Formats: sequence, structure tokens, C-alpha cells
Amino acid sequence: MNEAEHPQPVPGTSVPSGLKARARRVLQHLDAVLPDVDALYVDLHEHPELSGHEARTASEVARRLEPEGYEVSRDVGGHGVVGLLRNGDGPTVLLRGDMDALPVEEKTGLPYASRVRTEDGEPVMHACGHDVHTACLVGTAAVLARSRDAWRGTVMVVGQPAEETLQGAKAMLDAGLYARFGTPDAVLGQHTAPLPVGTFMHREGVAMMASAHVRVRLFGRGAHGAMPELSVDPVVLGASVVMRLQTIVSRALSPLEPAVVTVGQFQAGSRANVIPDEALLELTVRTEDAGVQARVLAAIERIAKGEAAASGAPRPPQVEVLERTPVNRNDPALLGRVRDAHASVGRARWCRACSPPRARTSPSSPRGRSTRCPPRTGSWASRPRRPGRRRRARRPRRRRRTCRGRTPATTRRTARAPAQRVRVTHRGGAGLPARRQCRRGPLKRPRPGAGPLARRVPRRLPPPRVPPS
Ligand SMILES: [Zn+2]
Repeated sequence: MNEAEHPQPVPGTSVPSGLKARARRVLQHLDAVLPDVDALYVDLHEHPELSGHEARTASEVARRLEPEGYEVSRDVGGHGVVGLLRNGDGPTVLLRGDMDALPVEEKTGLPYASRVRTEDGEPVMHACGHDVHTACLVGTAAVLARSRDAWRGTVMVVGQPAEETLQGAKAMLDAGLYARFGTPDAVLGQHTAPLPVGTFMHREGVAMMASAHVRVRLFGRGAHGAMPELSVDPVVLGASVVMRLQTIVSRALSPLEPAVVTVGQFQAGSRANVIPDEALLELTVRTEDAGVQARVLAAIERIAKGEAAASGAPRPPQVEVLERTPVNRNDPALLGRVRDAHASVGRARWCRACSPPRARTSPSSPRGRSTRCPPRTGSWASRPRRPGRRRRARRPRRRRRTCRGRTPATTRRTARAPAQRVRVTHRGGAGLPARRQCRRGPLKRPRPGAGPLARRVPRRLPPPRVPPS
């Protein structure tokens, strides 16, 4: 990702005046709202609904928006819910929460774990956190409705159906979402992630990868399982395709081009002793760039055709792209305002990997300490301050003046390599000429466990494991 794609936030800018006070005025209603949000979360988790079947969830959302003063419209593009709260002149801000669950069996053992199954016996679970998103959406709507003196404008709350199948948002737009309710100035969404409790993470630039749903039908020739010589086995063909697809990310793309190719579905045959006629593969492809997406899709088609030809398939395979969504790229200016709002009520941290140099080199930047965000997220996180907890004073670092390493004898003796002399491995004492730092006389071999790698290399290796006889 280059700088243009990943614009960096400017550290050290102060939170706009008045924002903190307004944020606190909004959040003072949080305690009153939380019990209902918590109950709604548990209820939604116990009663998940698959994409396109979110009737109950949508009605729970609508039922809670109405008493807060929202103008509620139901069944917008399927089970979509829209709630409007007008509060004078100002921007229209759309808050979006997705409502659907996944066909996954819950094995958490939680007291409120889902035991829901469809009529076909398929398990259903909120395994992607959309129950959290919906509950938070309703809670936010309630808090904003109760603190109208702290803000101005219009809030458009949107409960989005069928996110997992990539159809719900389009269905709502096709149903005239913006034509009926107005085009928002800003759209805010959220997604759960494995982060420390109470942490918000923001990311400038690409927030979500582009997604494509691909179906590959492989044609073979069926036969009795005991007479494989009469067949072109689509199961073996499919297996070869699946294995070969793994080389797209590992061999055909640069390490700087993140992508995912997952075969989530492989269907073929119905009996142990029958070689089927066809095999069906369904894939999801995630990329950060439209060009990379096009190359990955082309590679999938090429591999499917190549393997089919190698197997002697009677027909070339059918490769279809069923759904496709573009990259979700956050607007830096809008993200900055959201970040300021979070920072005004929390403790801010920069990610070392993606923060600008000033924040990276200054651990005590005005924004707070720098930190590492989870791999590949490249983000900025803020965490609510715990009341009554004081930050411990930073202990001054002790400078070690002892030489713990060595210089190769030849390097020390000859004056012809002054540059190499500086490589004497002193810990601390930076800025002094290397010669003056070591007062021990001729350097010896470093003790095991000493020197710059001491922290990384264990002094003693664990005893070798002896397999039980
Ligand atoms: Zn999700």
C-alpha cells in the first residue's frame, strides 16, 4: 500500500474545542440505555436470522426506534429498516448496522448460545458479530435522541439486511434509500474485531477489502466407482483445482499485494461408489485493489480451464463471478473527526507500523503512547480512560556503560577501518567514540547470553525430548 492509498493522520492536533463537552453531554445517557442494549444483544444472539430472513431482528430494531422519536420505515429493500431523527439544520449522518447471521453451528456453550436451525436443519449463528452491531446501532440511536441539545442535523439509522450475501445494501439503494430519505453527508459503519475490550480502532484509506464471489462448475464423465478408467473424475479434477488455486496468492502476487482466495464450498457426488458428472466450487476472493482483483479472477479461470484440459474433461469449466463489491475506503477528513470524538472521551494510541514519523519517534506525543495494532490492520486505536487510574511516572532509563560485546581483533588493531570500529557492541553510551567506551582492555569472546542478541537467544536450550519407549 503506498502513501496515497494510506493517507496518514496528522498527530498532535488538538481535539476541537467544545467537542469534549458535547461528547460528554451525549454520553451521559449511556448508563440509562445500556441495560436495554445488553438485553437486545442477548436476544439477537439467541435468535439469529440468515441473510434475507431478518424479519424478527428488523422488527426489534423498529420497535425500539419509534419510542425514541424516530420516523421509522420498514421493509426498505427486503427487511431493511430506516429511522430518521431530524434535529434542526446540519448534516445528515447515516449510521449503519448489519442484521443478518451465518449458517454456522454455535459451540460456545454460552447460556444464551443459539440453538436456531432453519427448516432444512441448517444451524444459524451470529458468528460475525452483527448482533453487536445491531444492538450498538439501537443504543447509539437512543443516546442521540436523548441528547438533542448537544448536536444539530439529521440522524438516519439504517438496519441493513443481507450483508453476508452482499445483496442487502444494493437492495436498499435500489428501493430508493437516498431518494426517499435524503442523501447523507456522512455514512458511519462499524465492525467487531479481536481487540482488547473497550478499544476502538480506526483506519484511514482501505478499511475493508474488495470482495468477489466466484462459482466454478467442473464437468467430467460419470462412471461406476469400480471402473474409473471409463470416467473423467470431476472430484480429482476439483481437488487439483483447489490445490492449484493456492498458488495464486503465494506465487502470482507480490507480497505487497494482500489477497485471499478461499474455496468455501466443494460439492460433488452423492454416493461412495459412483463417480459423478460434475463438481461445483464456490470461492470468495478478497483484494485491496481492483487491478489485483482482476488478475486473481483471471488466474482462477486460467487454472480451472488448464486443469480441466489436463484431465481430458469433455467440456471446459464454467466460471462465473456472482457478486462483487469494491474496496471500502475511509474518507480521511471524516475519519479524523470520528477519531477526535473518540479521543475526546478516551485515551489515544498510535500504531507504530502506520503512524507518521513524528508519532513514531516520539512516544510521548500529545496524542498518547504509540502501540502496535494487529497485523495488517494498520490502524489507530483509542481506549476509554479508566476513571481514577493514574498513569505511572516513567522511570528514567539507566545507561549501561559496560561493554558486553566484542570487536573482531583485526578490526580493532587496524586503523584502516575506522568505520568498523564504531560497530563495537556497546549497550548504552551512544554518542561516545567506541574506543573510549570500553575500558576493559582487550576484548574477549562474549559470554554466552551476553551481547546484543542476549535477549533473543536463550542461554540454555531445553533438554532434547526423548520419545517414550
Ligand atoms: Zn460481518
